[in-house]
Amino acid sequence: MAENSELRVVGTRKSRSLGEVSGTISVESERGSVEFTATDDVVLTVGGERNSVTARGSGSTVRLSIDGDRNSVSIARSLDLEIQGDEGVANSIDRHGEAQSGPDLVRTDRAEAYADLGLFDYTVLSYQTNATEREFCHNCGRDAETIVRRHEETVLSVFGFSITLGERTGSDECPECTPHVPDEDVELTEAERREIFR
Ligand SMILES: [Zn+2]
Repeated sequence: MAENSELRVVGTRKSRSLGEVSGTISVESERGSVEFTATDDVVLTVGGERNSVTARGSGSTVRLSIDGDRNSVSIARSLDLEIQGDEGVANSIDRHGEAQSGPDLVRTDRAEAYADLGLFDYTVLSYQTNATEREFCHNCGRDAETIVRRHEETVLSVFGFSITLGERTGSDECPECTPHVPDEDVELTEAERREIFR
């Protein structure tokens, strides 16, 4: 386990791999290359010149302040970045990698719901789809990574051939406003369902 530490990087043209860190990192070197993996929140201060600093990891927060010049800092998208200050000249801050995905709100897709149909069946199938065309959640207005819609389809199945008799689609739902508790199998009550499909 990495423990909270205070690290200072000094020197010229050094390449340093700090490994798994949390706590405080102060880059005071020149033309150095520094990389680390944040296992918990990190306060990163870049005071030197022409350094290249790369932060990896996920779920933690990097609080960045730069007072040196001509540094380039790259923070993984799966980390939260708070820029506390950039006092220097010609510093660049960018993000790399994939954003951390939110909880998986699609628990049953349409194909899975259909797979549960019997040869002779008259039932309401419930499934969820990703609303990938959405820029933000139209239910709560938040800018969310994952937006899903719940569907209910009334299906009649005869000899395995199925006919859709009715379909209802709920409003957008994202991790911020979902009534569904992520990563726990919690069934909605009838009253909650009606609330969603109203
Ligand atoms: Zn929402």
